[in-house]
Amino acid sequence: MILSLAAALAVLMPTAAPAPGETPAAPATAVVRHEAGAWTLDLTLDRDAPVWVFGESEPLSDGRGWRVHQWTVETPGVALETVAGRDVLRGVDGAPAPRRIRLRLEPSFVDLEANYDPVLTFSTGAVAWYSEVFHLIPLDTADALAVLPRDLGPMIDAAGPTRTTWSDAEGAVLAKGERLVDPDSTRVGTYILFGPAEVVPGEALSTVVDPGLPAWIAAELSSYAPRVAEHYAARLGPGGVAAPTVMMSWTGPTPDTSSMAGSVLPGLVVMAFEGDGVLEPTTGVRNLARWFIGHESAHFWLGGAVHYETALDSWITEGGADLMAVRGLQAVDPAYGGRSRLQAAVDDCIGFAHQPVSTSADRGEFRAHYACGAVFALAAETAQKRASGGDWLDFLQPLIAANRADGVLSRDEWLSALDRVSGDPALRRDIERMLDHGSDDPARAIAGLFERAGVPHRREGAQVILT
Ligand SMILES: [Zn+2]
Repeated sequence: MILSLAAALAVLMPTAAPAPGETPAAPATAVVRHEAGAWTLDLTLDRDAPVWVFGESEPLSDGRGWRVHQWTVETPGVALETVAGRDVLRGVDGAPAPRRIRLRLEPSFVDLEANYDPVLTFSTGAVAWYSEVFHLIPLDTADALAVLPRDLGPMIDAAGPTRTTWSDAEGAVLAKGERLVDPDSTRVGTYILFGPAEVVPGEALSTVVDPGLPAWIAAELSSYAPRVAEHYAARLGPGGVAAPTVMMSWTGPTPDTSSMAGSVLPGLVVMAFEGDGVLEPTTGVRNLARWFIGHESAHFWLGGAVHYETALDSWITEGGADLMAVRGLQAVDPAYGGRSRLQAAVDDCIGFAHQPVSTSADRGEFRAHYACGAVFALAAETAQKRASGGDWLDFLQPLIAANRADGVLSRDEWLSALDRVSGDPALRRDIERMLDHGSDDPARAIAGLFERAGVPHRREGAQVILT
């Protein structure tokens, strides 16, 4: 559940169109081809380098990247490996990787926590690829892998993003709402859909819904999403994106699974559902779906209207969207309490905040920004309530209004707003300490923050219970 910054160099065009002048020549090109049920990736590299690192990697629970699980190199002289958490193509025995490399791909759905899910699979056999998974950066030595910055985005832009061609022997692919034959993309930040899918235009949003998706989920989207978005808009002003497309995939009724995953891109929301646990709309599952829709919709404000300055600050957008989703659900359904979800955020944040929360993603603790961000938002909301009787959206409204022009809601702006509504600089210090240093006793730190902000709670050993 993440969101992108606006893709500055978004281009997507039929093959014949000219390249935009400002994009540097790519060191690599890629052709993704689907034919007779099989997938191939043909890479062409423009220089000799012993190591090529993929611009986005995220190891799965076994420490190996998702590509290593799904891709097989067919060309001799090169290996696909995960090194220092990065997926790389490496020439054997230190030799340069071959200039032309073919891989066989077996795309399957995997929900990444800190990156866009690379592939969405539909029950119709359609497959949607995240457009940015083929960017390659050449490195002179394998040693360079150890000292790469966390975010390789600037290196991709400097080296030149891989120009990827999307080719389906069965016909046109769906990209940015259009059916195109063999389109190219460089840095578009979207999903490219191969196979059958119907785009249903709508006033508030257009949808691409897997026909196998349990009907109640699609119905929930068409009834709940406009209501919660209306609620946000009434309180916060317009979101950053008008009339987005929502793509909903259904991986199937996998036993003992209840999975809802999603992300927000410029103009596109994707939601992937899986598992027998979401077949029937029990109250719990329905509230989960609504909460999920409310979280993703919230990113049109926290992420669309304003976004964070650096990924170290994604607690602002993720925790903020979590609390927006709870309050949005309560506005639409007063019977929803939301206590258990907020309690889970407190519990999880206590587990994460031993170490600096800002850099939690470096340790693979991707949920820390959601949980601790919601804890910080809850403190800010309560300070707001004390000051004006308002709620979380009242805290956010002036912050969003003041930062629409430059589009950035920085950590300092967020914390300064907390100073203003609380009148107590100790709250900022509590949060800064958890962000930058972590705490020896996170439960005490959070209880202290709640105490000062006025969040009703009690301490129970190493736990902080919301009351
Ligand atoms: Zn999110």
